[in-house]
This record gives sequence, C-alpha cells and structure tokens, in this order.
Amino acid sequence: MILSIVPVGRIDSDILCRLQHDLSMVFSVEPQIVEPLPEPSYAFDSERNQYSAESILEVITSQAQDDTPKRILGVVSGDLYVPELNFVFGVALGKATLVSIARLRQEFYGLPVNNGLFHKRILTEAVHELGHSYGLKHCMDPDCVMFFSRTLLNTDRKGSDFCGRCNTKMHRLQSAASPSEKQDWMPFSPLSLTFVS
Ligand SMILES: [Zn+2]
Ligand SMILES: [Zn+2]
Repeated sequence: MILSIVPVGRIDSDILCRLQHDLSMVFSVEPQIVEPLPEPSYAFDSERNQYSAESILEVITSQAQDDTPKRILGVVSGDLYVPELNFVFGVALGKATLVSIARLRQEFYGLPVNNGLFHKRILTEAVHELGHSYGLKHCMDPDCVMFFSRTLLNTDRKGSDFCGRCNTKMHRLQSAASPSEKQDWMPFSPLSLTFVS
C-alpha cells in the first residue's frame, strides 16, 4: 500500500505528523505528507455553514493520476456534509478518501481539550475510510473500525482495529490488488496502539 496524506487547506503539522506515524503503525507503510491543496472555498455552502465532501473529493480524485500513490487521504478542518446527511466524519470514493477533524475535538462539544482522544479519533476515521477504499463495506460489529459512526460514541467505542471478519476480507482484497500492494499488508489483530492525552 502506498499512501499520501494531503492537507486540504491549512492543517497543523503536528496533526499530520501524528497521523502519519499512527497510520504507519496500522498499515506498515510510511505515508507521505504531500503539498497542501488550496483552501476549499469552492466547496463551502454558506446556508449549511459546511463543506461539500463530494466537491472536495472530486479535487482529490483529480490528483490521482497513474503515477501518483495508490491511496490518497485528504484531511480538512472544515465540517463536511453529503446531501443525504447532516454531517459526515469522512468519505471515500475509489482510491480517494477524506476526513474532517472538525467534530473530532472535544472543544466542538464544549468539553475540555483531550489531544490523545483527538488523535485517536482522527486515526479511527482515517482507517475506516481507507478500509472503504479497499472495498470494505460497513460492519455490524460495533467494536470494528468499519462500523458506521453516527456519533463520536460509536467512533470512541470501535477504535482503529478491524474485527476478525473484516481483517480476513482485507487480506482477500489485498490479494486481489496489485502484487506491489500485497507485500505491504500486515495483520492488525495483535496490534494495539496506546494513546496518551
Ligand atoms: Zn463508512
Ligand atoms: Zn468488521
């Protein structure tokens, strides 16, 4: 798996570096942090005070030429929506994925800062969307990273680990992927990351 992390607009470098590190622990790759895309003012809906996830994904997808990395993960600070939902934590389309950090901070809910939790949530949402990019669907197991998060309670419960079934599916999907992607896959199960606040 080759992975680029692309900031969409300005994102603190410590957030990106932490995500880069945490994803390297999960996927056994060293994701690249690439040049930021412009601020997504083109995607802003002033009535909703949110950004269209689809519009931003379109721009990210347009970056995915043949010679670019296999997967792209966009990170944006603005709150995202898709037409059918009030908000989304992230979206995936083909090899392009996007997560918003807006609702992952405790401060969004008037609660005290908790950086450990914040970083854990970003990783969880990123792994979830990257799972979709390999063709995984939503999982019924609330402890699996592929469970659909309606609220942060779901996100905090599931964490960034795949359940046994999704882990097996990922192996299969990886085997169907190109030979260069096969070698990078490692099982998730024994791995648990520790987050400090
Ligand atoms: Zn999903
Ligand atoms: Zn699962």
